[in-house]
Parts: sequence; structure tokens; C-alpha cells
Amino acid sequence: MLENKLFEALLDVIPFRAYAVDVESYEIIYANKMVRDNMYAPQETYCWEKLYGKTEKCSWCSIDDLKARDKFTDSKKFSCEFFDELDDRWLNSFDELINWPDGRYVKYSILIDTTEQKEAQGSMLKSHASLAVRTKQVKKTNKNLQITKLRLQKTINKLQKQEEELKLLASTDPLTKLFNRRYFTEVSGHILDLAKRNNENMSIIMLDIDKFKNINDTYGHKVGDDTLVVFAETLNNFKRKSDVVCRFGGEEFVILLPETNVEGASKIAHKIRKVIEELIIKIDEKIELNFTVSVGVSQVNIEKDNNIEAAINRADKALYQAKDTGRNKTVVIEDI
Ligand code: GH3
Ligand code: MG
Ligand code: MG
Repeated sequence: MLENKLFEALLDVIPFRAYAVDVESYEIIYANKMVRDNMYAPQETYCWEKLYGKTEKCSWCSIDDLKARDKFTDSKKFSCEFFDELDDRWLNSFDELINWPDGRYVKYSILIDTTEQKEAQGSMLKSHASLAVRTKQVKKTNKNLQITKLRLQKTINKLQKQEEELKLLASTDPLTKLFNRRYFTEVSGHILDLAKRNNENMSIIMLDIDKFKNINDTYGHKVGDDTLVVFAETLNNFKRKSDVVCRFGGEEFVILLPETNVEGASKIAHKIRKVIEELIIKIDEKIELNFTVSVGVSQVNIEKDNNIEAAINRADKALYQAKDTGRNKTVVIEDI
């Protein structure tokens, strides 16, 4: 008896709820202090009323299950977790079918409050879930960024291509595809600087198609255009790697020849004039056309000249001498 009292006193100080229920009458025959203090309706008869304020057996009750077990072979223990709606707590119930000292069979239960543990687990799961969502979002953002980057690169490439095309358009003549006068003036300045630095010669050949107006008048503007294209191609064929060929305007063309003195330039000029003289352009089955060109040659004075303007003027003067003295000629200005 004293032993029982001691045992009950011990159970009163443990931080768990402990109680025993008669498995036949469902009456609580023992409750420790924690159960007694938290009892919902002590005046009622049945355990479900007293403990949980229910009107019938609890859904998680293990009594029927424990009673149905084989006395000799089955375990007399049972455990389950349930939610106590009255206290708003999660409880883990460890039940055992035991023989009470007075001979009755009882379900002896210890209840452990697992609410904090559950909430910690829950918030951990929530963190995991939000981390997963955020990781997914970051991945999506990264993917979007990559797509934007690719699109941007494509636009940059397109713009660069357009810029190059615009540069080419701005620097070339659309009909002959030769450099235009603007580009020629710009690039000749750089070439002259280089020639000055390296103390190298540099010459100019200026060419003007003879009586070109007649070609237009006789065969039409289109044939005139085609003639200009053929002439440009011929000049390009004579062009060396570093030479710059330009359509100076109308039917007038200029070649800038770096590292070339006036003798070298006049040899090239003579050859061009001769080739043009012998060139026959087939307009159609019946009509063939040929034309001549007058040429002026001069050398750049790399010591005195600060741009190629003076050399161009000298070549122009030579060209008009060629025109004045009968055309289809090359005139070379030796003085610089
Ligand atoms: P010259 O021997 O004195 O140089 O006589 P020319 O007829 O060649 O010279 P002129 O300056 O009298 O005439 C040049 C002609 O070139 C007039 C112009 O209509 C023509 N022309 C200029 N540019 C083009 C062009 O792009 N296409 C065509 N088809 N004709 C052009
Ligand atoms: Mg002309
Ligand atoms: Mg002319």
C-alpha cells in the first residue's frame, strides 16, 4: 500500500500526463497531478467526457484493440498521436494493457506533448518548401536572364552588322562599289602620314572617260552606267593590294598609289589607258561599244604636301592637258 502511494507521488511530479482507465467501464481509476489539473469535466463518468469533453469514445482510443489482442502472444502496448482540440495540443499516447492491483484490467497511458516538436518540424518543412520555391524562382530568373542576354547579343550583332553596312554605304559608291570621294580624302590623309613617317614615295593617277556624254546620248543612261561599272572593274584589276581606287565623281576616277614614284605610276597609267582603248563592250548581238580615257599622273611631295590636295590638282592639270591635246592620252607632271 505504501509502495503504491510512493509510486503515485512519483508520478505526480513527472512532466507527463499519466492515467489509467478501466477497460470495461471506461472510468478513470487513476490520474496523476498533471491530468487532474487539466481535466475538462471531472464530474463526468467516462474518460472521453472527463479528459476531452467528448460525447462518445475517442476516435484514437486503443482499448478495443488492446482487449482484442491475444493474451499470450500479442504485445500489450500501443502508441498513437492525436490532436487535443480542447487544449490545441498534439499529444503522443503510449498505452499499455495492465493488471491493476485490485485485479481489474486497465489501459495505462502516458501522454507526451509533442506540439513544440511538431511545430518545429512544420516550420522546418515550410522553410524547406520556401527554399525550394525560391531556388526554382532563382533558376527561372537565371534562365530568363540567359534568354535576355542571348537576345541582347543577337541585337548587338545585328546592330554591328548594320553599322558595318552603313559604314560601307557611307564610304562606297553604290554604282561601281568603289570608294567614294569622302572616304578617299579621309584615307589618303592617313596614307600620306604613313608615307611621311617612312619617307616613301606616293603618286596619284586621275582618269576621266573621254566624251562620255556621247555614250549616254547614243546608247542611253543605262549603258552609260554599265560602262562606268566595266571601267571600275578594269581599274580594280590593275589595283595592287595597297592602292586605293576611288570614283571621284561622274566619269572621273582617282587611284592613290603608295610606295610608288611618278615613273612607276605613269607605267601603270599607260597600261590602263591602253587596255581601255582596246576594250570592247558588247551591248547586244549587234552593237559593240568602245571608249577611251584621258589620264593625268603626278607624285605627292611627301616633304612639302600636308595633304594630297596639291598632288590631285597637279594630276587634274595633267588630265586637262591630255584632254586639250586630243584625249586618249597620259600626261605626267614630273615637277613636284
Ligand atoms: P570629256 O571628254 O571632256 O570628259 O567629255 P565628257 O562628255 O566625258 O564630259 P562631260 O563633263 O561633258 O560629260 C560627263 C557626262 O557624264 C555628263 C553626265 O551626265 C555623265 N554622267 C555623270 N555621272 C553619270 C552616271 O552615274 N551615269 C551615267 N550614265 N552618266 C553619268
Ligand atoms: Mg569625261
Ligand atoms: Mg569629267
